[in-house]
Amino acid sequence: MKEEVMKEEVKTLQIAAETWNPERVLRWAFDTFGAAVAISSAFGVEGMAVIDIAAGVRKDFRVFTLDTEFLFPETYNLMDQVEQRYGIAIERVYSLISAEEQERVHGQALWTRNPDECCDLRKVEPLRRKLGELRAWVTSIRRDQTAERAGAGKIEWDEKFGLVKINPIADWSSKQVWQYIREHDVPFNPLHERNFPSIGCTHCTRAVRPGEDDRAGRWAGLSKTECGLHIIQPVAGSPEADA
Ligand code: SF4
Repeated sequence: MKEEVMKEEVKTLQIAAETWNPERVLRWAFDTFGAAVAISSAFGVEGMAVIDIAAGVRKDFRVFTLDTEFLFPETYNLMDQVEQRYGIAIERVYSLISAEEQERVHGQALWTRNPDECCDLRKVEPLRRKLGELRAWVTSIRRDQTAERAGAGKIEWDEKFGLVKINPIADWSSKQVWQYIREHDVPFNPLHERNFPSIGCTHCTRAVRPGEDDRAGRWAGLSKTECGLHIIQPVAGSPEADA
């Protein structure tokens, strides 16, 4: 389907899709795009919920992850568990330059001096490359996580990367996510129980302190809140578009 036609279809469905539950959103994604849609996951608790819901809709769903080479051992362990539990092979996407090469070319600890450049090299470019193979991607973002995510629609056209973006749990709260995880006995990253509500690279993630918001442990001390993957404009018709 041509890009313009797809954009029109998304526009037509967008408002109705806001009433769909995550399972229905994923069913639409799999029926519409088949093998050309994949779930992007960093295996946080939201990502685990989306993967588990997807597994109930279709057995051979695709999951990819941006492996920056700087992830926590707990995250790598969870990835192994995901592959075993759901019988899938996670597609691991790496930067074009290794961690060693990055240090040689850009100097030590680029993430402390220029985290945007580090994220571009290790997350944004690899994501762009991966999305080039797809017609749609699924994320596990929630609207109340950051200001940048507040306008996310359940189904939207991703202008930044030029494909359909699907956010099945955009309207869920953290409480709903945890309720789902407990009720369905879904494995999760043990760091969540050690005050890491949001988990990224080891260099840029710390535990949160009492009273801090859930993403305060990401790029702590910097104004940065996103890797650059989910900067979103409000969607016409979504509740947040009028706020
Ligand atoms: S989160 Fe930190 S270490 Fe990971 S890619 Fe971004 S800046 Fe680099």
